[in-house]
Amino acid sequence: MNIIQLDKQYIAGTYARFPLQLERGEGSLVYDTDGKEYIDLATGIAVNAFGVGDKEWIAAVSAQLGKIQHTSNLYYSEPCALLAKELCTRTGMKKVFFSNSGAEANECAIKAARHYGQTKKGKEYSTVITLKNSFHGRTITTLSATGQDVFHEYFTPMTEGFVHAAPNDLDEVKALVKAHKCCAVMIELVQGEGGVTALDPAYVKGLETLARQEDLLLIVDEVQTGNGRTGELYAYMGYGISPDVVTTAKGLGGGLPIGATMLGERADLFTPGMNGSTFGGNPVACAGAISILRRIDETLLQEVREKSAYIFTELQNAKGVKSVTGKGLMIGVECEKDAGKVISACMERGVLVIKAKQKVRLLPALNIPMELLKKAIKTLKEVIEE
Ligand SMILES: *Cc1c(COP(=O)(O)O)cnc(C)c1O
Repeated sequence: MNIIQLDKQYIAGTYARFPLQLERGEGSLVYDTDGKEYIDLATGIAVNAFGVGDKEWIAAVSAQLGKIQHTSNLYYSEPCALLAKELCTRTGMKKVFFSNSGAEANECAIKAARHYGQTKKGKEYSTVITLKNSFHGRTITTLSATGQDVFHEYFTPMTEGFVHAAPNDLDEVKALVKAHKCCAVMIELVQGEGGVTALDPAYVKGLETLARQEDLLLIVDEVQTGNGRTGELYAYMGYGISPDVVTTAKGLGGGLPIGATMLGERADLFTPGMNGSTFGGNPVACAGAISILRRIDETLLQEVREKSAYIFTELQNAKGVKSVTGKGLMIGVECEKDAGKVISACMERGVLVIKAKQKVRLLPALNIPMELLKKAIKTLKEVIEE
C-alpha cells in the first residue's frame, strides 16, 4: 500500500506536501517510514510545543481519556474550567471562549468586535481594520480579514466589513478609522505566514492609544505567536500593551486541536446563544493544554530567549543570509538561495524547516535541547552557504 498514492487519490488537493511521511518521534527528533532521523524545527507549524512523545502531556491526555472523552457544552467539565482559569490568571483577561482552531478563535474575536461596535456605538459600526500581509485563517470571514489578495482569489464575494492598512503605518489606520464605521483593529504582532516580521513597538503602542481614543477593540491574533513561542507567554506582553481580545491556538494544544478567544473587560459581553462549538473546550484537548501552559514558566521562557539569541547570532552574519527576522523561536531567514531549495536540501540532510513567503521559517520546540539546535543550525548554515 503506497500512502503517497492513496493520499493523492483520495485527499482533496489543497496541500502541496513534501515527499516525506513522518511516523514517530521523541522530543525534537522525528523519524520517517524508512527510519530516517530528522531534527524537527517545524513542529507541525508551531503546534508540538514540547516536541513529540512529551510524557507529561501524554499522561494528562491519557488520564482524561480514561475518564470521559467529550461532554459537549451542555454540561460543566473540569479541564475546560481549569484551563480557562489558568489562561485568565496568567493574562489578566476576564473570560475565554474555546473552539478547535485558530480560524475559529478569530471568528469569535470578530463576532465579539461586531457585537461590541453594534451595542456600544451603533448598528453600523461593524468594520474591522486588519493589516496587509496578515494571515488570520481559512474560513471565508477570516480570509476576508487576511490582508493578502492571493488568498481571496476564487472565493469572492468575501465577507464585508474588513479594511486593510500597511503594517507600521499609523496614519493609514487613522485615515481608515475616519473613512469607515469601525469596531476593532486586529493584528499579529509577528506576522507569521506573511514572512515572520515583527511589528514596530512604537507603532503597536500607537495603535493601542488610537484604539482607546476611537473606542475600538484591540484584537491580537496570537494563534502562532502565543504560548511561549516568542519568548513571552503571549507576544503582547513583550510589547507592554493590554489588548481587549487575544486569540490563540496552534501550540496551546500541544498537538490536539484547540482554539481560545480570551476576552478582556471591555469585550466580555457574550450572553447564552451568541456563540457555540460542539467540540469547543473538549476535555481531552483542555487537559493537554493545561499541562502545556503550566510548564511555560519564566525559566522556560528565558531558555527560549537564549536559544533565539543563539540562532540570531549564528545566522545574522552567515554567508548567503540576507536577513534574519522574528522573535523568540519564531524566526524567518531570508537567503540568497531559493527558500524551497534550502528546505529540500535541509530535509535531505535530516533537518525539517518550513517556508513563510520567500523565507525559511524556523519553529523549533520550546524545549529543544541545545545540542540538537546547534547541530540543526550548523546544517542549515552549510546548506545556505553552498
Ligand atoms: C495558523 C494561523 C491561523 C489559522 O489557524 P488554524 O488553526 O489553521 O485555523 C490564524 N492566525 C494566525 C496568525 C496563524 O498563524
